Amino acid sequence: MSDTNATDTGATGTNSTGAASEPRLRAAVAGLPAYKAGKAPAPGQGPSYKLASNENPYPPLPGVLEAATAAAGSINRYPDFASSALLNELSGYYDVPVEHLAVGTGSVGVAQQLLQVTAGPGDEVVYAWRSFEAYPILTQIAGATSIQVPLRDEKHDLDAMADAITERTRLIFVCTPNNPTGTVVHRAELERFLDRVPSDVLVVIDEAYREFNRDPEVVDGLELYRDRANVCVLRTFSKAYGLAGLRIGFAVAQPPVAAALRACAVPFGVNLVAQAAAVASLRARDALAERVDALVAERTRVLAALRAHGVEVPHTEANFYWLRLGDATEKFAAACEEAGVTVRPFAGEGVRVTIGEPEANDLAVAVAARFA
Ligand SMILES: *Cc1c(COP(=O)(O)O)cnc(C)c1O
Repeated sequence: MSDTNATDTGATGTNSTGAASEPRLRAAVAGLPAYKAGKAPAPGQGPSYKLASNENPYPPLPGVLEAATAAAGSINRYPDFASSALLNELSGYYDVPVEHLAVGTGSVGVAQQLLQVTAGPGDEVVYAWRSFEAYPILTQIAGATSIQVPLRDEKHDLDAMADAITERTRLIFVCTPNNPTGTVVHRAELERFLDRVPSDVLVVIDEAYREFNRDPEVVDGLELYRDRANVCVLRTFSKAYGLAGLRIGFAVAQPPVAAALRACAVPFGVNLVAQAAAVASLRARDALAERVDALVAERTRVLAALRAHGVEVPHTEANFYWLRLGDATEKFAAACEEAGVTVRPFAGEGVRVTIGEPEANDLAVAVAARFA
């Protein structure tokens, strides 16, 4: 190789043919915001807890570890491509036809597939902001444009979201309960909203925290999607079911959307341990209900304690709460860490705190009381 042909490693370098010397990446990938994972506590003296990722503090439900361990004995084999046993179990559990289901690597994986099947360059994706931080990332990966509609009183402003729809809109996310504010969307207001959405625009109701909701007025996506071909419901095994580490979630939608999702899934993406653990989790219905009830009771206790200390906290129907601390956000997160808990700060805006072990919750409440 002669000197004149030497590879230039600079981003703008060219080789002798005049082509860029680095692989050409899609413009959409440049400047992709990084997903900020919840911080794990630093090892040290004293107890430490993670309240940063809305995880379930409980160990797997009865029978789940056994099912997962048994499945692990077959990891030299590919998983069931169609996740048939799981789809059948989900179908019975939620009373939906198998053809209306699609599973994926977490509901984030399914959300990515939803964008793949609906949106590309020139298309718009509408969602409330602040909401789930995966939405802008997934939208950008798809090459589509995010239209972020500000929350109003920490809630979705559905009128403003409907006003934001254009002929370019392809997908709308509605997150209820909303991550990170914990606020919900009621059925009546969502129905009014859906009546304003053109029938060729897909509305994705992200119900990752559905199990923790106790407000009877809150929309149940599984009731709505049946009469609306443009509604898709996202659910996950990561939160209430406590399987965050196995990456498994699912969508419920009418056949055209569900079939498109299955067609563009990463082959064998949902692994066989996850499939077996999810089936076993669905069979532990009573134990699940007990644990979710306990977390909801703990949420009630924590919110009362916060308010007793004069802390302002919006009503939450999820397994976390939101403190709009503005400029004090980073300081609060650092103080929590010092006290032995990690939380999820959104710089300059606020902090999301998961409902976890009572001892951990008490530590966070004590810090919040100091900041009130
Ligand atoms: C946690 C969460 C999910 C679920 O993510 P998985 O990929 O299933 O772990 C989906 N949507 C929202 C809003 C979430 O907070």
